Amino acid sequence: MVVEDEPEIRLVLSTYLEDEGYRVVEAETGEQALSLSLDETPDVVLVDLRLPGIHGLDVVRSLRATSSVPIIVVTAQADSHDVVAGLEAGADDYVTKPFVPKELGARIRAQLRRNASEAGEPQQDIIACGPIVIRPETAEAFKDGEPLALSRTEFKVLQELILAGGRILSRDDLLRRVWGYGNAGDGRVVDNLIYRLRSKLEVDAAEPMHLVTVRGFGYRLKP
Ligand code: CA
Repeated sequence: MVVEDEPEIRLVLSTYLEDEGYRVVEAETGEQALSLSLDETPDVVLVDLRLPGIHGLDVVRSLRATSSVPIIVVTAQADSHDVVAGLEAGADDYVTKPFVPKELGARIRAQLRRNASEAGEPQQDIIACGPIVIRPETAEAFKDGEPLALSRTEFKVLQELILAGGRILSRDDLLRRVWGYGNAGDGRVVDNLIYRLRSKLEVDAAEPMHLVTVRGFGYRLKP
């Protein structure tokens, strides 16, 4: 999204970005930018700071309050005050006018890469369900702080059940997610694995407290 009130500059920016393969949404004012951003959910926003109506800095603050979209401010000249204010308002980077298109292109690509790699990072390094804790990055599992000796498949089943957050997973759900089967898989492979997992997780595998069967539906994990 390009937020720029001067038509010539908007045209130059849009033409350059479209040539680079981006789809460009143009906004002439901050008001327009804020309303368009709700429908268009842009991947990156270029904001001119000197706008009629809402100031560019307020556009940056409003966008930042509700979204982690990369924001690049475009300042009129190498005005260090504008640059600092833009970054403090929540912008990720800046370019100064007159800008070199190649430099702008490089900065946009850097922002998109950063956003993509953050989105790909695991959200948490440990996930817990009551006394049961897993560490997905190292495939370790613990109960009451004691490590559980799980096979890779046992770990993956436990992980799916924890990530389900208390919801029931059917045998088919588990087959698809852990074994990668379609719908026609053999549910007994799941039942066997659950039996082994219970023998490691539960005090009494015959009376499970955590990994419970919901008859006719599947399994769920209780804290
Ligand atoms: Ca302007």
